[in-house]
Amino acid sequence: MNNPKRYLVTAALPYANGPVHIGHMAGCYLPADIYVRYLRAQKRDVKFIGGSDEHGVPITIRAMKEGITPQQVVDRFHAIIKESMEQMGISFDIYSRTSNPVHHETASAFFKKLYDDGLFEEKESEQYYDEKTKTFLADRYITGTCPVCSNPNAYGDQCEKCGSSLSPEQLINPRSALSDAVPVKKKTKHWYFPLQNYEPWLKEWIIEGHQEWKNNVYGQCKSWLDSGLQSRAMTRDSNWGIKVPLPDAEGKVLYVWFDAPIGYISATKELTADWADYWCKEDTKLVHFIGKDNIVFHCIIFPSMLKAHGNFVLPDNVPANEFLNIEGEKVSTSRNWAVWINEYVKDFNGCEDVMRYVLCANAPETKDNDFTWKDFQDRNNSELVSIFGNFVNRTWVLMHKLCGGKVPKLHEDILDDKDRALVADIAAAKEKVQTCIEEFKFRDALFEVIDLSRKGNRYMQEKEPWILAKQLAENPALQKSIDNCMHLCLQLTANLAILINPFLPSTAKKMLQMMKVVEKMLDWENAGKIKLLSVGYSLREPQLLFRKIEDEEIAAQIEKLKNGLIKPATETKVETTNNIAAPAAETSAKTTIQYDDFAKLNLKVGTITAAEKVEKADKLLKLEVDLGFEKRTIVSGIALHFDPSAIVGKQVVVVANLAPRKMRGIESNGMILMAEDASGNLKFVNPDEPVENGSGVS
Ligand SMILES: [Zn+2]
Repeated sequence: MNNPKRYLVTAALPYANGPVHIGHMAGCYLPADIYVRYLRAQKRDVKFIGGSDEHGVPITIRAMKEGITPQQVVDRFHAIIKESMEQMGISFDIYSRTSNPVHHETASAFFKKLYDDGLFEEKESEQYYDEKTKTFLADRYITGTCPVCSNPNAYGDQCEKCGSSLSPEQLINPRSALSDAVPVKKKTKHWYFPLQNYEPWLKEWIIEGHQEWKNNVYGQCKSWLDSGLQSRAMTRDSNWGIKVPLPDAEGKVLYVWFDAPIGYISATKELTADWADYWCKEDTKLVHFIGKDNIVFHCIIFPSMLKAHGNFVLPDNVPANEFLNIEGEKVSTSRNWAVWINEYVKDFNGCEDVMRYVLCANAPETKDNDFTWKDFQDRNNSELVSIFGNFVNRTWVLMHKLCGGKVPKLHEDILDDKDRALVADIAAAKEKVQTCIEEFKFRDALFEVIDLSRKGNRYMQEKEPWILAKQLAENPALQKSIDNCMHLCLQLTANLAILINPFLPSTAKKMLQMMKVVEKMLDWENAGKIKLLSVGYSLREPQLLFRKIEDEEIAAQIEKLKNGLIKPATETKVETTNNIAAPAAETSAKTTIQYDDFAKLNLKVGTITAAEKVEKADKLLKLEVDLGFEKRTIVSGIALHFDPSAIVGKQVVVVANLAPRKMRGIESNGMILMAEDASGNLKFVNPDEPVENGSGVS
């Protein structure tokens, strides 16, 4: 859309069933925030809408397991998520929640309108029902014996032991995962939205009309449309959610994916009385930022609902990102393989911009990408500190030293090619950054900003004003050259503040401070100009924009990630602590292995001969283990479970051929097998009678 009158930007509603992690940030919140901050700097009319998605089955299950109400679950996580968003500088105009009354009214009315227009199909089907908890059971909440491999804990949709995909009907002896009761079949009626009716229109709208959408988004839409759409139930049997606003619908609520995107409309209503301008006028540009798992809902289902309703604008673009993996593995909230925002801001206080930088520079814009702590450190130390921060700092220090802390004059008569090239680079950078942001290429945009600071460093290196300063006594005319160099470097710094602002807002603020100018200077129209700081204006002392991140901090994060990993309760557990910041563990079995895989393990019995706490690591014990043929040092994450003196003399089973690993500077050679019960209590695995140290286990 060219020249829209106003922008409506939404970011996916996070599920209020756990805190948010960096994958969420990289997926949609950060790119949405960069886009919105840029639009605001452009003085465009924009509203940035977000909120928590507070309905759906997993929330009720969690509430049941914890013995609290669903409202208590969502209250807790809504607060945590909202705080994390603020801490990372995600500048929503409103961060609402779908349990608010305005949303219930809006979503009900939306459903009722489609119902009154005769757009739903009513269908009856038989579903499993738990009579004890009076709940219809989603497939995932039925367990039983796998007909393929006899695993007694298969789910109604899949056996995780043999990988077979199942339907609840195939399970032998099905049970409710909620109450262990034997489920019964019960008839239930639901309202289905016939997506197939919208297929011809969707094809025209997306396949013909939105070829500019990102390849990953366009491709996924095309494959959904190519394989044909079907009716989808828009209601569920549950007591938690938005009641179906019909007389014969007791115990039924709107399907969470029907109500959640309507949450964008409700939140806009809550924000402004002019909400209808944003949602109903054709010259609004509506942009949904989401992760790739939400593409079908935002590109196919929600637009079809909007089209069916008839009163609302359709999304102009849906720039979905792919997934961010961590240290080479998929993020898993249930296994706690994640970097949680609420923990990051504690561990790296004041470094919120660094995470924003890394997540944008390495954003999964076109394919899944990997976050590693090493890369985080490298990008901070060698890009933010050494390039951007270094340029600004050098400029400030030299300006105070060579120009008395004031903006020197620009002597146009002696401008040379290098000066002119720098001025041209500044103007060009603005155009490049702007084009990239408008096309949702935030990585490229950020690269251009850093590249401009790189050019600044090179310029200063070539000009060498500190050398000129030494020759001033013999050649006072050189002051003019020094003035020009410093003048241009200062104007470049002002430009960098404007260009970096959408990406690293706190950094831009610090730069404003140093320049002693007001926020208005960050208006986008000022970018590309070299008359931002007036001649003779005195500037503050420099302050460091970024600090170096040390190896120890990175090692501690990697250790935290590995130690926090939650493994299924029935498995042996090694060097794992219950550092659970995550949603409760949902256990899952691992894939089947062949005997050869098992035979690779060298398991030996040993005796603990010494144990002590590791300094500054409250979860780690340093153990000496006698394996008969040799003595080993093993670091184990069990300090919260055992008193060191009480375990000396115990026999244990050790994985003797595990690659050594350094933890807190101590090389750990092997792992000790532990059993863990459902509440997280640890017990050693050992022979039932003492055996000679070094005995094999097989
Ligand atoms: Zn199976």
